[in-house]
Amino acid sequence: MFKAGFMKIQKKREIVIEFERVQLVRKKARTHLLPCRECGRETDFVALGEASALFATPAENLLEFVKLNRCHFEIGAGGEIFVCLLALLARMKQKANLSRIKLLKE
Ligand SMILES: [Zn+2]
Repeated sequence: MFKAGFMKIQKKREIVIEFERVQLVRKKARTHLLPCRECGRETDFVALGEASALFATPAENLLEFVKLNRCHFEIGAGGEIFVCLLALLARMKQKANLSRIKLLKE
């Protein structure tokens, strides 16, 4: 007769799992309407410093992301970098589709 018994636990182990929690954040940003050569039309540009504050990311990391992902940017007369928000958000969206969950240690 089948008896609902207690399973014998032979081995135990500890694993580490890392995952990101998706958080919805809404922020206001001051943008500059500029013609984007890549988009071929006027789009919202955000100054690198502003974008850095917006995404709570150091400016140098953001700039690296912009360059690595071929986001559109223009350099202002004062040497300030303005990033095409349209392209930046599109690239960020693409990146976010990558696996957000990973096993760190088995
Ligand atoms: Zn653009």
